[in-house]
Amino acid sequence: MNNLIISNLSKTYANGVKALDNVSLQIPTGLFGLLGPNGAGKSSLMRTLATLQEADGGTVMLGDTDVLTQKNEVRQMLGYLPQEFGLYPKVSAEVLLNHLAVLKGLIVRKERKEIVKNLLHKTNLYEHRKKNLEGYSGGMKQRFGIAQALLSNPKLIIVDEPTAGLDPAERNRFHNLLCELGENTIVILSTHIVEDVKELCTQMAVINRGRVLLTGRPADAIDQIKGKIYSKEIAKTELESYHKKFNVVAERLYLGKPIIHIHSEIDPGGGFKSVAPSLEDVYFSQIFGKKRG
Ligand code: ADP
Repeated sequence: MNNLIISNLSKTYANGVKALDNVSLQIPTGLFGLLGPNGAGKSSLMRTLATLQEADGGTVMLGDTDVLTQKNEVRQMLGYLPQEFGLYPKVSAEVLLNHLAVLKGLIVRKERKEIVKNLLHKTNLYEHRKKNLEGYSGGMKQRFGIAQALLSNPKLIIVDEPTAGLDPAERNRFHNLLCELGENTIVILSTHIVEDVKELCTQMAVINRGRVLLTGRPADAIDQIKGKIYSKEIAKTELESYHKKFNVVAERLYLGKPIIHIHSEIDPGGGFKSVAPSLEDVYFSQIFGKKRG
């Protein structure tokens, strides 16, 4: 299976915002998490890979295909699930999927029926196939989005912020579906939710302000900050002074009291305890660390 290789990709919008600043990434088969806060440039990157917008510079290759110039070829290999997509509300999943299959060129009725049936099963929508899409929950709509993306048997699947607004059971279901797809396809999952990447992705990148801050395996990224994360329970009134003094990467409440995590090369003393780092610590030390540094 071919890798997706992004080299020095750049994009500045007409208003002067540099959304992609020399982005280079190698993305193999499997689930790849693209993690970054709102405004980091994730959607700009996803839209460029999905051939929906032009880059100013750089190259993107999917195997032998030049993604930036061979747009028609890429579209044949691509399944794209944008952040928001419109669905005809008054038709059923089965009818719409069948209609979209015709548009994709699946003109042999028997073959098309079989494909539509399989996709409805795969996305756990078969029992709801007769229901109008307006009655679908957020999770069901997302899974329908995947079903339609799979019509073209894609080699590259891009999902942009897919779990926002899903309840835990729906999210779980969606995760299972993505994992299955990642077994033999490149799946890029763009998200600001660290948990999604932690649970799913074999490879990841952290981006902010259009730049790649880190890329690799989540476990390796965690290893790199081992022994550098310290934790302490403090009083609410002390929060501000700790923020000024230390590189605070996490802040959460435990029984109403703040517990902070800091990133420090040396033991800060003062009641801090060394703790095992998590992917959240990796992520926030990248985001906050670079902001201050
Ligand atoms: P993310 O998906 O990570 O939230 P985006 O790619 O949507 O990030 O945005 C990156 C930056 O580019 C933001 O500062 C955003 O305001 C800006 N931006 C996005 N789309 C446009 C556009 N069409 N025109 C001008 N600026 C844009």
